Amino acid sequence: ATMPPLLSAIANAGRHGVLVKSAVVMEQLGAGTLVAFDKTGTLTEGTPRVTEVRILPDIVSSESELLALAAAAENPSEHPLARAVVAAAHKAGLPLEHAEDFSAVPGRGVRARVAGHLVEVGSPAHLLSLTGQSDVVTTDVAALELDGQTAVLVRLDGQVAGVLGLADHLRAGAAQAIDQITTITGASPVLLTGDNPRAAGRLATQVGITDVRAGLLPHEKVDAVRALEASGHKVMLVGDGINDAPALAAAHTGMAMGRAGSDLALQTADAVIVRDELSTVPAVIALSRRARRLVI
Ligand code: ADP
Ligand code: MG
Repeated sequence: ATMPPLLSAIANAGRHGVLVKSAVVMEQLGAGTLVAFDKTGTLTEGTPRVTEVRILPDIVSSESELLALAAAAENPSEHPLARAVVAAAHKAGLPLEHAEDFSAVPGRGVRARVAGHLVEVGSPAHLLSLTGQSDVVTTDVAALELDGQTAVLVRLDGQVAGVLGLADHLRAGAAQAIDQITTITGASPVLLTGDNPRAAGRLATQVGITDVRAGLLPHEKVDAVRALEASGHKVMLVGDGINDAPALAAAHTGMAMGRAGSDLALQTADAVIVRDELSTVPAVIALSRRARRLVI
């Protein structure tokens, strides 16, 4: 017997490097009217590097001290930013203290006890609102973000101790994939990110995205997907992080980046991009559309 079109499309998607979890999903992929992308780890490689360490000298004595404290607190975290901070500390040859009472808040950052001190590392939007030192730091944060970087704040016992700048690379072929998706679906993709509006806007310009929704917490990514669906769209969301999982579940179809993707994102998504390339997204949409024409 010849294979039904949706099954051979699944086999084809597999050859392209996409694991489609069911025939229903294979059919849904081509029914989407709008594609939404996460930024970090999806449109970018998700392997950021620490480029700058700035300290408040009243609170910590050196850049090394700040980096060592931040890395100790980030050590238990799987987040790409955390891995970057730990890598920078290792590279500088800094020994890391053990972190106690570690906790992570998706979309915000981490906190832990390091050598008896409370260390928090996370987004300026979250950590600056809780302190009176904002003026000193906002200029540093703004400069880094305008440069397209992610600025991360480090607090020591509730006081801002410094700022880290982290830079990530755009994935190869991102602009081309977005262009192809726009051609196939007739709609320009949108960007949904927890990162800051300035860095998000800069990256969006580079890849040709004009609709940018930044500074979103995980539940706000869900809200954004629901709002797009309420306006009549069937949204295909492409993401990678734990923070994307609720939105991947809420979307008409969810696709996860396989290699860098968190376990939760891989489990929640309807399809997994095993070969880490964005060109697979327009490829599977086209495969699905072709199969649908044969089925209907
Ligand atoms: P994205 O949506 O771009 O994948 P996330 O939702 O994972 O980004 O993170 C949003 C923001 O929350 C980051 O830009 C950072 O400011 C902060 N953040 C989240 N996790 C961490 C962490 N482990 N260390 C430092 N900052 C973090
Ligand atoms: Mg991400």
